[in-house]
Amino acid sequence: MSCCDRDQLRSVDAMLEELLNKATPVKESINTPIANALGAVLAEDVISSIDVPPYNNSAVDGYVVIAEEHSSNVAVTLEISQRIPAGSTPLPLQPSTAARIFTGATIPDNATAVVMQEDCTEQDGKVTLPAGIKLNQNIRPQGQDIKTNQIILKKGHRIRAQDMGLMASIGVANVKVYRPLKVAILSTGDELIEPGETTKEGQIYNSNRYTLKGLLDGFGFEVVDFGIVEDTLNSTLNALTKAANAADIIITSGGVSVGEEDHVKAAINQLGELDLWKLAIKPGKPFAYGKIDNTPVMGLPGNPGAVFVTFCILARPFLLKSQGAERTNTHSFKLPIGFSLRKPGKRREYLRTRLNYEQGVATIENHPNQSSGVLSSASWADGFAVIPEHTTPQQGDLVEFWPFSELLG
Ligand code: AMP
Ligand code: MG
Repeated sequence: MSCCDRDQLRSVDAMLEELLNKATPVKESINTPIANALGAVLAEDVISSIDVPPYNNSAVDGYVVIAEEHSSNVAVTLEISQRIPAGSTPLPLQPSTAARIFTGATIPDNATAVVMQEDCTEQDGKVTLPAGIKLNQNIRPQGQDIKTNQIILKKGHRIRAQDMGLMASIGVANVKVYRPLKVAILSTGDELIEPGETTKEGQIYNSNRYTLKGLLDGFGFEVVDFGIVEDTLNSTLNALTKAANAADIIITSGGVSVGEEDHVKAAINQLGELDLWKLAIKPGKPFAYGKIDNTPVMGLPGNPGAVFVTFCILARPFLLKSQGAERTNTHSFKLPIGFSLRKPGKRREYLRTRLNYEQGVATIENHPNQSSGVLSSASWADGFAVIPEHTTPQQGDLVEFWPFSELLG
């Protein structure tokens, strides 16, 4: 590589910023039952038309009273004037009585405290309540969770399990979400065969196809799989043309390096435009980005380790923004490393690492084989440790850890 090529390496941050600027969020939305909405991105604010809970209700099984009737330092025995199970409509509480009540049941309008049954003694239709009854104790007030007209979830939010429950709690059955992106995947390489086939000399199994399929499925994208593409310019042109017609975004693997057998960049150039390439990321330097008509193409490297890293770090935020998601970044944590680095690198490195807990304290453990051709390190790992360019963190130093639970859909 010449000095100038090296100078042209683009930083991960600059690349991400450019990629996010180029991502155009999908516009079309669909109405979907909330039960099917996991992972989808909201195309509108979700606004509540009710209070949740809709009425004051009891937080415990016990006895409901009018707190103001009772001096706080005297125990009292009261007649039980009604029984209020959850789901029933109570009568107003008769003065100087108590009512039996259960968790979630409506508090009578004039009642103001619930005493938990563990603190009471019931006998012959009467209950003895302890001293110290406080106003509003054990009452969950109407609207304590959600108020009428409150926005409970915002447009651009990716729906999680608890959000499905939250929408259900305000009675929403269907929700407007962006239609899932169609993402085409192409695996370039004459050496590739599919699992289930028998390898001949010089052949390897196509693993990138399945890594990408799994990653894309995890985000709820619709995968359009173009299988294996031969290492010729014609086949690559052909496959990319079809993919550009069939999908919103194309992801290729392999063939983006500088060898004669690498045709992806040339093909993107011929069919559209190639915008950015050569990246200060390890693994994954030969990442390419371009456009065919209006279809963005991300050319990932061929090495399986590099595919995993470049997808998580670069393709993921681009895809999420294209899907209409407001949040594309990831939470990370600074944790001490249990190893030392020797040489500073010119590229930001995403080490495949694991957390080790000793006496409840986490330390980052490095996989011994960080080769871009190795995939078992990614399977072994539960996150990336991010080593900034030009640094050599030593054992015990704090390093950013990006958990896969954050990165994978
Ligand atoms: P390339 O960028 O096409 O030169 O590929 C770089 C390395 O990744 C080579 O060793 C390829 O054999 C390997 N490779 C490319 N595509 C795949 C794939 N789909 N599955 C597994 N390995 C691959
Ligand atoms: Mg190749």
